[in-house]
Amino acid sequence: MTDVFRLPTPGEVGAFYDEANELITRFQGGNMHYGYWTGPDDDSSFEVAGQRLTDIVIDKLGVRPGDRVLDVGCGPGKPGVHLARRTGAAVLGISVSERDVALAGARARAEGLADRAVFQHADATALPFEPESFDAVMLLESIVHIPDRAQVLGQVSRVLRPGGRAVLTDFVRRGEDLEQDAETQAAVAAALWAWRAAPLVRAEDYPGFAEQAGLVIDEITDITMQTMYTYPRTYEAMREYAERHDDLPEDLQRILDMGLDEDFDPDMVSEGVIIVALHRP
Ligand code: SAH
Repeated sequence: MTDVFRLPTPGEVGAFYDEANELITRFQGGNMHYGYWTGPDDDSSFEVAGQRLTDIVIDKLGVRPGDRVLDVGCGPGKPGVHLARRTGAAVLGISVSERDVALAGARARAEGLADRAVFQHADATALPFEPESFDAVMLLESIVHIPDRAQVLGQVSRVLRPGGRAVLTDFVRRGEDLEQDAETQAAVAAALWAWRAAPLVRAEDYPGFAEQAGLVIDEITDITMQTMYTYPRTYEAMREYAERHDDLPEDLQRILDMGLDEDFDPDMVSEGVIIVALHRP
């Protein structure tokens, strides 16, 4: 039995994506991140809503043609290749999954952007790059896998030039911290482990993380209400797939078996999503 309270290592995260990335992108409109819907009446597809979140993050990065951008946790490359095309920047994407790197490179070649969107295997907690070698760093739903947020932000700070920006999305706990019995704690840990996600932090923790890393926070935006439609949709896509196929990886099957929260109340969401924009002074 897996000890679900153990923190995922970069190697375990990479192995998870090696196995599951193609299916996750299929369930999430080509990306592996939350969609952004304007409200309950917004019936945009997952693909449109996911692309919207990518564009919101890119807008906040404010990169210019010729800038060098590090995409930390590139997945199969859809956001990184889009960033290169939309902004004219040169993107270097990294992942701990070899399969991500192979798929992202193939995408860049297929879209004629292989000269400006390059992907390689690397671990964000030990970035193999020179100090001050990037103008901007994008971390789109990748820091969620890294238990020590301050440490990885320290790595980001080191490779950013002075004045350079970083924009990330993270999963957070919100509202009051409720007492949880042992059974609930184990269920929460099992759900995180199924995605190889690290324990959730709180938006209020970010100023401390940034300070330790030598970064300055420009904005923290809570997008829980815009992204909360993601899970029901992912779940539905997974369920439909599982009805027609029998090759769902064990972790995704476990996620499916856990089911959807029946008591889901949009006004009382205790887990959410934030965008954090920072810069190196
Ligand atoms: N940014 C992509 C993928 C998000 S999924 C998108 O938005 O579609 C999370 C990604 O982070 C995966 O590619 C995973 O391999 C990567 N990742 C997680 N921990 C990492 C680490 N320590 N170093 C580098 N990449 C990491």
